[in-house]
Amino acid sequence: MAKIFCVANQKGGVGKTTTAVNLAAGLAKIDQRVLLVDLDPQGNATMGAGINKAELESSVYEVLLGLADVKTARKSSETGGFDVLPANRELAGAEVEMVELDNREKRLKDAINAVESEYDFVLIDCPPALSMLTLNGLCAAHGVIIPMQCEYYALEGLSDLVNTIKKVHGKLNPDLRIIGLLRVMFDPRMTLSQQVSAQLEQHFGDKVFKTIIPRNVRLAEAPSYGMPGVTFDPSSKGAQAYISFGAEMVERIKTM
Ligand code: ATP
Ligand code: MG
Repeated sequence: MAKIFCVANQKGGVGKTTTAVNLAAGLAKIDQRVLLVDLDPQGNATMGAGINKAELESSVYEVLLGLADVKTARKSSETGGFDVLPANRELAGAEVEMVELDNREKRLKDAINAVESEYDFVLIDCPPALSMLTLNGLCAAHGVIIPMQCEYYALEGLSDLVNTIKKVHGKLNPDLRIIGLLRVMFDPRMTLSQQVSAQLEQHFGDKVFKTIIPRNVRLAEAPSYGMPGVTFDPSSKGAQAYISFGAEMVERIKTM
């Protein structure tokens, strides 16, 4: 059965999508079967995997509302080597439309259930909000990967996210736990980065992934070619870091 992970942080622009897409591609490179779920109406993970969000017949929106199943809505990312349950701006409406549905926090979980045996990993790219969409992601997952930039304000929002995860764990999904904090867009020349990084290790110990993702322009360029950075420039420092992170995840799930 697949291990299911949310990539979440309610802060915007912290590297969630870059992490989800490149981890998916990194895992695919080591022969893992991966489904990437785009749970953000921005559809950045969809585009970053080389799938045109403007030309979807069905998407995660229809899946959440019970109008399509994952098998019909999923696409294959040729550039990434994994499957994608894509999203576009239609998904923004789901939030309101789901209010009337039963079991509305668990719609994604139920949908993924049907295909879980086909994958080793399901990665869910969450939007930058603690919304009903993110709640669906958290209810579907075994764990959360939290990408963070090592800056002062990064720690502030973290307690809200940790509290939300605790609540979901207590009330809705006893399987849920924090898998780890991933330091991203890291600039070793900045003293503040080093300090925050050390603080994270002190507070969270083993929960901080060993792999550190550096700031690397190739990772930022790749989406405009519809490619994960890992495929776009495999020898770049950013790609290499995400490939290492894939290997670290494979190791980590052995202990779960
Ligand atoms: P949102 O909250 O809007 O969904 P996000 O958390 O998914 O954002 P990304 O879209 O992954 O964040 O990243 C934000 C921006 O930073 C993008 O332009 C991305 O290309 C760039 N970026 C992400 N990681 C790196 C990195 N390691 N080095 C350089 N640029 C990066
Ligand atoms: Mg994103």
